[in-house]
Amino acid sequence: MDASSTTNIPLVDLASQHAEVESDVLSGLEDVFATTAFIGGTAVGQFEGAYAEWLGVAHCVGVANGTEALELALRATGVDAGSEVIIPVNTFIATAEAVVRIGAIPVFVDVDPAHLLIDPAKVAEAVTDRTRAIVPVHLFGQAAPVEQLQDIAASCGATIIEDAAQAQGATRNGRPAGGLGAVAGTSFYPGKNLGAAGDAGAVTTNDPEIAKRVRLLGAHGSATKYVHDVVGFNSRLDTIQAVVLNAKLRRLSAWNGLRQEAAARYAEMLGDVPGISVPTSAEGNEDVWHLYVIRTAARDRALAGLSEAGIGAGIHYPTPLHLTGAFAQLGLAEGAFPVAERAAREILSLPLYPHITIAQQKFVVETLRALV
Ligand SMILES: *Cc1c(COP(=O)(O)O)cnc(C)c1O
Repeated sequence: MDASSTTNIPLVDLASQHAEVESDVLSGLEDVFATTAFIGGTAVGQFEGAYAEWLGVAHCVGVANGTEALELALRATGVDAGSEVIIPVNTFIATAEAVVRIGAIPVFVDVDPAHLLIDPAKVAEAVTDRTRAIVPVHLFGQAAPVEQLQDIAASCGATIIEDAAQAQGATRNGRPAGGLGAVAGTSFYPGKNLGAAGDAGAVTTNDPEIAKRVRLLGAHGSATKYVHDVVGFNSRLDTIQAVVLNAKLRRLSAWNGLRQEAAARYAEMLGDVPGISVPTSAEGNEDVWHLYVIRTAARDRALAGLSEAGIGAGIHYPTPLHLTGAFAQLGLAEGAFPVAERAAREILSLPLYPHITIAQQKFVVETLRALV
């Protein structure tokens, strides 16, 4: 298939990305197999250093996936069983899973209607004497208002742990998403702005003690082979994934720039389409457009029509977490989080990736115009 055709436009185009890095990846893999350094090895350390530097944080610890990155970040900052952790209700379920995995209690809060990011006023209302952490999610490619959570966190002794899985390279007031709180978890799931060829993730922090603790917990509680001071588990960044990530990291700034250009084009092209509102970036934010999420009352019709036309649109996410079966036991009914619930009925993610062409975007917009 011609990647620039308009007959089949994917939501995310991983093939074009891979074509750019293929020769780097293959030569890196040859080294791994030649040395049989399958665990750790130079690629992992190289990636950790390069990612920390690219992001602008002091430490990066590679781990197995984004969910475990968040779990390790929570554990490394002392969040334990019975602790309450405040999270936005409209996130990928992994944010909440990480909390539940350590026996802590997810406390959902609603989001701001303009950007669907965690609402600091709602966080303040949700604080109790058991609150140990607040997890702002940098959703769709832009940073949550972390600085507005600092006073709330300080007043109750909570730690700010960022979910940076959708915002690799985003900044807020010139500071990097993933370096705004005490510690952050990120994911290199293939479809993320920086994606591996399988599962991978990382924890980033400016605090050397937290970095050390994450590394310990993710390596069987052991800093020295067969000396186990705490019970940890196995969550390592796979060497083969580190090879892929090294190759893609070198192109990530350029790819994020192409996403920004594509987002600006959508905003212009969609400006005169009635019945649609286009996403905007909050003040102070440099947005890296992980997803391009419009809103329309005709969402279901638009999604069906786009699919029929061969356009891969999606919904991120169709069900706010309190209404999923997984969290039914919290007893939170429809109406608990009106902003997120309304958004879930109206949001629609359009195809957006670094290699999307103007012709593809025009086709998406013209197809959409006829549907809404
Ligand atoms: C992708 C994602 C994760 C988890 O990532 P995995 O690597 O799939 O475990 C966590 N939070 C958010 C917001 C995500 O988008």
